[in-house]
Amino acid sequence: MFDSIRASFASFFGSDEGVVLAMAPGRVNLIGEYTDFNAGFVLPMTVDRGVYVAIRPRTDQRVCVASVRYHEHIEYELDQVPKVVPGHWSCYVLGVVEELRKLNLVASGFEAVIDGDLNLGAGLSSSAALETATALALKAVFGFEMNRIDVATLCQRVEHHYAHVMCGIMDQFASGLGQSDHALLLDCRSLSHVSIPMQLGDYRVVIISSEVKRALASSAYNERRQQCEEGVALFQQHEASVRALRDVTQDLFDEHGAKLSPTVRQRCQHVISENQRTLDASAALLASDFEHFGALMTASHRSLKDDFEVSCDELDYLVELALGTEGVLGSRMTGAGFGGCTVTLVHKTGLSDLRAKLKAYEARFSLTPEMFVLDGNLEAGVVTDY
Ligand code: ADP
Ligand code: MG
Repeated sequence: MFDSIRASFASFFGSDEGVVLAMAPGRVNLIGEYTDFNAGFVLPMTVDRGVYVAIRPRTDQRVCVASVRYHEHIEYELDQVPKVVPGHWSCYVLGVVEELRKLNLVASGFEAVIDGDLNLGAGLSSSAALETATALALKAVFGFEMNRIDVATLCQRVEHHYAHVMCGIMDQFASGLGQSDHALLLDCRSLSHVSIPMQLGDYRVVIISSEVKRALASSAYNERRQQCEEGVALFQQHEASVRALRDVTQDLFDEHGAKLSPTVRQRCQHVISENQRTLDASAALLASDFEHFGALMTASHRSLKDDFEVSCDELDYLVELALGTEGVLGSRMTGAGFGGCTVTLVHKTGLSDLRAKLKAYEARFSLTPEMFVLDGNLEAGVVTDY
């Protein structure tokens, strides 16, 4: 990757002299699904692939950015931002440049090349990786101070205002603050966070892409948000300190949950139990109790399927295939659901079996799933050893 992006930079801009390279990885959420907008906990980790930005400052105000993947480039004067096209690769880059420029942190124009080995649109949050890598690249060449939490919230703003995706903070946070050989327990209310060592030994984290595009996701997402708010309104009447479902204990739920409509009750039950599972899973990881960790992952899936109802046949089938494989400790859908990926914890001796089982998925759904076995995980930063 390093050599090829340097070569791309040289071919776009004449030479690669003085180039700085920044990288930010994608992420997978191990557990803690739909807890983020309920002010709860999530437990993502970075993956072993990322987005790279090679950059060099210019002496004038010209900005030139090229994407290797799309064979396209954009060019403009720093203070004359071109029209932003939400979802186009350039919107993420422009967005980061603009947000930093508004803070007077971009001192001049620059040249940059973007490339990466992270899959796009596969649920690994390549958009957050692109935003984060761009911000870290600009930070490196212009030498300003900005802590990683501020980088993450800036990148989240970019996702909201330039890509028009109203995401929570997890993706940008995980990409920018996730450490190698650790998962990241994040409190989505306070943004306090703990890196949890992952000494997996002979176990592996496997991501399997269902190849189902998440068609239903946005309307269902809004509906779930509203249902969670309905739950909060009820519990608030009984306990004034409740501001989000994160504040509702299982006891409070058991006492008053029956007053909710059956659907809203189920939604709340998922969030409340998922929050606890995420904390329990962090403790299990810390204790290297992988059996328990895996059981919590599987319980999370059941809850997302039955109570929160954001899974789909394809994801359920992938989870069942995994759970029927020797050496698998747990498996669940990850991300917003209705498609996207599953994440599985498996002993390395079960990997080939698991891969072979995917044939059954192909036969049943006429979709070819992609399986990624994480080989460690990366952390964002300026790449120096290249
Ligand atoms: P996800 O974040 O789940 O991968 P998104 O649709 O949010 O999916 O973001 C994918 C978009 O991010 C791509 O369509 C592209 O515009 C941009 N992107 C991600 N990685 C790269 C890359 N290496 N080069 C150019 N654009 C990228
Ligand atoms: Mg994204």
